[in-house]
Amino acid sequence: MSDTIHSAHAQAKRPAISFEFFPPKTEEMEQNLWSVINRLAPLSPDFVSVTYGAGGSTRERTHSTIKRILDETRLIPAAHLTCVDATCADVDEVVDRYHDLGVRHIVALRGDPSGGIGTAYRAHPRGYQTSADLVAAIKRRYPDMEVTVSAYPEKHPESPSLAADIDMLKAKVDAGADRAITQFFFDNDLYLRYLDRVRQAGIDIPIVPGILPVQNFKLAKNFAERAGATVPDWLAEKFEGLDDDAETRKLVAATVAAGQVQKLAKQGIGNFHFYTMNRADLVFAISHLLGIRPNGSQKAA
Ligand code: FAD
Repeated sequence: MSDTIHSAHAQAKRPAISFEFFPPKTEEMEQNLWSVINRLAPLSPDFVSVTYGAGGSTRERTHSTIKRILDETRLIPAAHLTCVDATCADVDEVVDRYHDLGVRHIVALRGDPSGGIGTAYRAHPRGYQTSADLVAAIKRRYPDMEVTVSAYPEKHPESPSLAADIDMLKAKVDAGADRAITQFFFDNDLYLRYLDRVRQAGIDIPIVPGILPVQNFKLAKNFAERAGATVPDWLAEKFEGLDDDAETRKLVAATVAAGQVQKLAKQGIGNFHFYTMNRADLVFAISHLLGIRPNGSQKAA
């Protein structure tokens, strides 16, 4: 595997980590998110990202969460943005507002069909037609904006083949994408094989593995089905019989996810993006096991 060649070098460095949050819906969820952010902030992530609800439903909440992160922390925020049901002018306005606020990183996505996953995607007639168009537009407007895109080690469910999927990634990179974050996966080999194919296709941006610590197995299985991610039998077995035992589930979840990232780190992978689901404990523990200590210090993992 081409990326493993650098393993000795990569292991000497502190892994780069980033955390993903979703914008809170209620006052109580907001308080929870802020206690999570305050717990994870001392780990000095490279950036933290805030998702954009289906069809732009969280447009204002994503914006206010990003603004509060800028106002109250030293974290670097990345704002997710989709093209769904929006004209180019609408999307440009969102980008302008972020830029005015001081945001310099956008996670640019096409988004799910407004009819729901599984229905046909129809781009807005006056909107950006693909995620690559969105990336190009952001970069044209603001060359200083970092743009991250999605990547799918098991291909996107709408994609006819992995090759077609990688062509789409290539189009996003050609449009100026600086980094890709993958859909979550549980089988590291899938990711490592995908990385090889992406490199063979001449794509050289970081392809950061997206890690989902599975606290609630049923929920994760449901997510995985919608996202086209495989849930291996061994993972299901590890959670067998634990439906009513949250305490043990948490220990198992930390062990599984820490094992996954440690194995990737041994393969020379030096970047990890955590889907936190607005919870701190597992991500904090896994980062700790990667050797990451508060305030940027690093212990051998
Ligand atoms: P693209 O990269 O544009 O396309 C994905 C694949 O679908 C392509 O490789 C291509 O093969 C195929 N495809 C696309 N269009 C067509 C077409 N017309 N015909 C045939 N095949 C096609 N969703 C949200 O709503 N909000 C978020 O904040 C959010 N954050 C995400 C963050 C990450 C890291 C990831 C991996 C996903 C995120 N998503 C989010 C989910 C994402 O919006 C969906 O997976 C969506 O269906 C595809 O958007 P995309 O930008 O990944 O698509």
